[in-house]
Amino acid sequence: MRGSNTYVSLIAAMTAALVSLDARAGGPFVDVRSVDPTIMVELRYAGRNNLIRHPLYPSGTRALARPEVASALAVAQAFLRRYQCGLKIWDAYRPVTVQAELWKASRNSDYVANPEIGVGSLHSWGIAVDATLVDSWGRPVLMPSDFDDFTPAAMWRYAGSSADIRAHVRLLQYAMYKAGFWGLRTEWWHFTIADWQKYLPPEKAKVAGKVLGTRWDGRL
Ligand SMILES: [Zn+2]
Repeated sequence: MRGSNTYVSLIAAMTAALVSLDARAGGPFVDVRSVDPTIMVELRYAGRNNLIRHPLYPSGTRALARPEVASALAVAQAFLRRYQCGLKIWDAYRPVTVQAELWKASRNSDYVANPEIGVGSLHSWGIAVDATLVDSWGRPVLMPSDFDDFTPAAMWRYAGSSADIRAHVRLLQYAMYKAGFWGLRTEWWHFTIADWQKYLPPEKAKVAGKVLGTRWDGRL
């Protein structure tokens, strides 16, 4: 009896940790910090410091992602620790409703995915994150641009002359690549889990695969 109570509490705890938020995303999500509490989180859409200058997430929103994505982030974090650095998450799971608000506000299809087309944003499936680098004290380090900077400075390949910035962005990208993420040509901070197609319904993955190779590539 005692054993089965323990079992029931364990299941309850696991259910609490796995949050299913969006039927469309089709999978459970975990709080990234429940997998690795050393990863810093500053969700930019939870405050005013973002492209539309008002909060899109309720206060207390956590950085959620597919469990496999959170585990891969922990791998990247462990790698970065060896260089006295760490990750700071700017965005993770993004509800379709928030994606729709971003789309409405920006109407820039070069960068922002229209939630009505194809699979929308891969953030809405819990398989993409926006991340930057911090030092071992959690302080920001010099990077090529701020979040959601839609200028050439945001390109994956840093073209500036600062050796420090070059070293920081390469370290972030190498850590994420080694942990199983892909980057995005137009945004140094955006990372998608390499086997992303696995997490979409097959018909959606097929469409997204086609679109990703063409004009969909390059949007957040
Ligand atoms: Zn992104």
